[in-house]
Amino acid sequence: MTTTAGTESPVSVLTTGLDTRVAALRALYEDLHAHPELSFQEVRTAGVIAAHLRTQGWTVSEGVGGTGVVGVLDNGAGPVVLLRADMDGLPVREETGLPYASVRTGIDAEGTVVPVMHACGHDMHVTCLLGATAQLAAHREGWHGTVVAVFQPAEEVGGAPAMIADGFLERFPRAQVCLGQHVQPAPVGFVGTRPGAVMVAADNLRILLHGRGGHGSAPELTVDPIVLAAAVVLRLQTVVSREVGASERAVVTVGSIHAGTKENIIPDTAELRITIRTETPAVRARVLAAVERIVRAESAASGAVEEPEITVINTFPVTVNDPDATATVLGALTETFGDQRVFTLPQPFNGSEDFSTFGTALEVPSVFWHFGGADPAAFAGLDIADLLADGLPDTIPVNHSPRYAPVPEPTIQIGVTALLAAASPWLCGA
Ligand code: ZN
Ligand code: ZN
Repeated sequence: MTTTAGTESPVSVLTTGLDTRVAALRALYEDLHAHPELSFQEVRTAGVIAAHLRTQGWTVSEGVGGTGVVGVLDNGAGPVVLLRADMDGLPVREETGLPYASVRTGIDAEGTVVPVMHACGHDMHVTCLLGATAQLAAHREGWHGTVVAVFQPAEEVGGAPAMIADGFLERFPRAQVCLGQHVQPAPVGFVGTRPGAVMVAADNLRILLHGRGGHGSAPELTVDPIVLAAAVVLRLQTVVSREVGASERAVVTVGSIHAGTKENIIPDTAELRITIRTETPAVRARVLAAVERIVRAESAASGAVEEPEITVINTFPVTVNDPDATATVLGALTETFGDQRVFTLPQPFNGSEDFSTFGTALEVPSVFWHFGGADPAAFAGLDIADLLADGLPDTIPVNHSPRYAPVPEPTIQIGVTALLAAASPWLCGA
C-alpha cells in the first residue's frame, strides 16, 4: 500500500488490488454465463464456487438446501455479516450473440428438455460475491468479525427457504445483518435502493380450466376450454384496472397458456400460468380473491362441468429493507461511489426476490440494493432522474429477456465494491 494508514478509507483498504483481479473475475463470469443451470440443479456452479472459496481460505459447506454453498471466514471478534448471491439460470434460449452465450439445455421440473440461460444475471451476482470473498480473504488487516457468504440455489423458484430448512440457522454463525444485490438493466454505475419495500411480493399460480373436448366441427357438443381461457385472460386484465386503486400497485400477467394439439380437436383442458405482483398485504389479498372469483365465474359462464383447479406454484414475500440499516448502507455506498451514482429509489421494483427469507428467519435487518449493468451507450441523452421517474426505454433488454446481458466491465468491479462498501460499516467499525 502506498498511502499511509489513517488517510485511507476502510473501503479502499478492502478494494486494494481489485483492479488486478478483474480479468480473472471476468473469465469466471464468462465461464458461469456459458454454463447456466436450472433452479436446484446448480451442481457445476456450486462446484466452481466451492473450489474458489477453498482456494481463498474460506471454510466451505456444500449441499446446503440442495445445491447451496456457504462460506465462512472468521476474522476475530466483531459483527457477523451475511452476504448473499443467487446462482440459478432460467429456461430461456439465449439470443445475445455474445461469444460466451449459452447453448446449454436442461431438464425442467416437468421432465421437458429446455434451453438454459443466465437471463437474470445471477452469474454476475456469483462473480461479484466471489470477488468480494477474495478481497476479504486477502485484506484481513482491513476488517474484523465474521462473514457468511451465502450462494443460494433456485432463487427463481423461491429456493431460500430450502437453505433455512436445512439447518442454516444452527449450522452457521448468526448474522447481525443480511446484505444482497441484484444487477438491473440500468446504466452501469447506477446503484439504488430504498428503505421499506424494495421489491414486491409475487404469487405464481397454475390454473387448469376444465372443458369437455370433442370434434372441431361440432363445438355445440363440447365446452371449449380455449374460448374459456381467452375469456379468463381478458377478464383478468380488469383486476388491476378496475379493482386496484390508482395509488396502489399491482400486476397480473398471464405468462403461459397451453391447450390443444390440432386444429380440428377441441381439447379437454387449458392451462394458464400467471404471476401476481403486489406491494401490500391488503392489495395482495384483494387481487388473489379477484383472480379466483374471475376464474371460477368464467368457468361457470362457459358451462364447465368441473371446477377449475388453482394451484400455487410458489410465492415470494415483499422484500423489505430495514430503515436504519438501509441508511447505513446508502451512506457507505454514497461515500464510495459519489452522490451522482447512488440513488434512493422512489418506489419498489416490480420484480420479486426470496432474499428477505434470511433476514426474516434470523430476525435481523436486511438490505437489498440494485446496481446497473447496461451499456451506458444505450442511454445516451437520458437522465437517471428521468429513468427513475419514467422507467426504462423499451429498447433496453430487461432481466429474463433472451437478449439481457450486463456488460462485464465495469459491472463486476462495481458489484464487488458495492458488497464490500455495504458491509464496511459493520466489518470496519471501531
Ligand atoms: Zn429472475
Ligand atoms: Zn434474479
